[in-house]
Amino acid sequence: MTRFAAIFAMILALASPARALDDDVAGYVESNLLAIFYHELGHALIDLMGLPVFGQEEDAADVLSVVLIDAFFEEEAAVQIAYDTAFGFYDDAQQYEPIFWGVHGPDLQRYYTLVCLFYGANPDERADVADELGLPGERAETCEEEFDLAADSWGSVLDELAAGPAQRTDLVLEIDTRNELDVFTAEVMQAEMDALAEDFALPGDLLVAIAPCGEANAFYDPSEALILMCTELTEYLANAAP
Ligand SMILES: [Zn+2]
Repeated sequence: MTRFAAIFAMILALASPARALDDDVAGYVESNLLAIFYHELGHALIDLMGLPVFGQEEDAADVLSVVLIDAFFEEEAAVQIAYDTAFGFYDDAQQYEPIFWGVHGPDLQRYYTLVCLFYGANPDERADVADELGLPGERAETCEEEFDLAADSWGSVLDELAAGPAQRTDLVLEIDTRNELDVFTAEVMQAEMDALAEDFALPGDLLVAIAPCGEANAFYDPSEALILMCTELTEYLANAAP
């Protein structure tokens, strides 16, 4: 969609005077903030719409993130976001031991599934991406089918949201420590929420807060219908940027 690519360019342009990040770092941080926000949006939709989940909810949320990256952005921007978010998982996998008992799949598995689904969404144009990111041929064989299933499953949910009555969604910012990184995060999130509110009627207000939470993470809190983007996350991403 052209509109989203334009918004993406606009965010970068608007954000530049306010931030202390150089362009490459800002791009990396923004890609990962968006991918993580889309993941949290998956949790929110599952909760607010009472969606059935046949498998690990964390996987379903990861899948929505790739579906939205593919749907919202022009090819060049989508590929850049896919590289940046793949690197995010790869970097985590280098830094931490895999947690096999966790609710999330191990980071490297999330990495390969992201690459596979992204490649599967447009295999004619993304063979180089799959190669460069090391997707084994054995997995690549099923990626187109995997993406089609993902796009059908989440697609019917997104169609329902797109067909709903126009309804504004709120973005609440709680910035306890106001610094340039928080401002950057707020601009990225505000633009994204505005874009979403234009096309999708969410089943109720969805609050997005930016606040410190003691760890570099993001959460969906069903008791408040609130997505919390931790300020520590932006800081962590800025330091981890390749
Ligand atoms: Zn999650």
